[in-house]
Amino acid sequence: MNLRTPGPTPIPDSVAAALSQPMINHRGPEFADLLHEVTTELQTAFQTRNDLFLLTSSGTGGLEAAVVNTFSPGDRLLAISIGNFGERFATIAERFGCDVQVLAFPYGEAADPQAVAQRLAADPTIKGVLLTHNETSTGVTNDLEALATVVRAAGPLLVVDGVSSAGSLEIKTDEWGIDLLVSASQKGWMVPPGIAMISVSPRAWEANATAKLPRYYWDLALAKKEAARGQTPWTPGITVLYGFREALRLMRAEGFDAVYAKHRRIGAYTRAAVKSLGLRLVPVDERRASDTVTAFYLPDGTNEKAFLEQLRTQHDVVLAGGQGELAGKIARIGHMGMVEEADIDDVTQAIRQTLAAPATAAP
Ligand code: PMP
Repeated sequence: MNLRTPGPTPIPDSVAAALSQPMINHRGPEFADLLHEVTTELQTAFQTRNDLFLLTSSGTGGLEAAVVNTFSPGDRLLAISIGNFGERFATIAERFGCDVQVLAFPYGEAADPQAVAQRLAADPTIKGVLLTHNETSTGVTNDLEALATVVRAAGPLLVVDGVSSAGSLEIKTDEWGIDLLVSASQKGWMVPPGIAMISVSPRAWEANATAKLPRYYWDLALAKKEAARGQTPWTPGITVLYGFREALRLMRAEGFDAVYAKHRRIGAYTRAAVKSLGLRLVPVDERRASDTVTAFYLPDGTNEKAFLEQLRTQHDVVLAGGQGELAGKIARIGHMGMVEEADIDDVTQAIRQTLAAPATAAP
């Protein structure tokens, strides 16, 4: 199967093999070694000296952990949204009682740093900014460096959803001043779902000391205490961590710069292929199109569900459909982690044939 959803993504054979290692005591020395290796390699990948924690969770749990460890009820936050996942991040903070102001840009567009700067200048009470780096629902990547610069200058904490970007698109966590960065194992990391990662800056720890949102499972101060002795507060997803260790060894061997360069190359290759089919990309400005997921509009009259089903049953190609406002209108090709040009060629061929000869619904 050519699994080309924007996560979960295919995993290399050696990662699959690593998953079948015997169980170990999570309070013993082998686990401490495993935790240490995965944590330090991820700090390298995140380009950070900040604390980094591995949570047994999908990405959404990591986003919730970022919010509940940093803020208090009534804190004013600015949620910058360019799509479905930006909306989700805002909803999490709202649900916990933060005063969330949403700065939304139309689906297909990236956030405008100027507009963010103006909004922050107009409201000095904003304590934190929630920002999606790569909006998986639209295939748009925000200019994280420019946005981080603006947020840094204004002063609030910067919390970044890097679920579908970290490990595939370069993020300079410390240089750009990102206080909390969240990612998840099943995206560009080439690991099955089950582990979320979160880095925490000294400024975020300062906020943590007085943050009053309720937390128990996601208590990062407790995670820090346990990490000092090579443990996690709760039973960790050991199997997924085995896979993570192997995937990070592969990424290190390839070199992170080479990994990022590959994603830039494959991103451009995929967009060119989609456009060659006469299809329109969702990103309005191709310079902000994502190098991990390509979203394109289906031709008028195409039934999204039927189209995806035909790709799957006739071509063994699995793509994702639209979310939020774009549900029913688009398809998305994931190209993060383990992907080569030949995989994209296969997808392109399958789309071409499917659009040329759509299976007709029974009358
Ligand atoms: N944020 C982004 C940008 C995502 O792409 C996703 C997953 N598609 C999530 C958050 C949520 O992650 P999960 O499904 O792992 O909870």
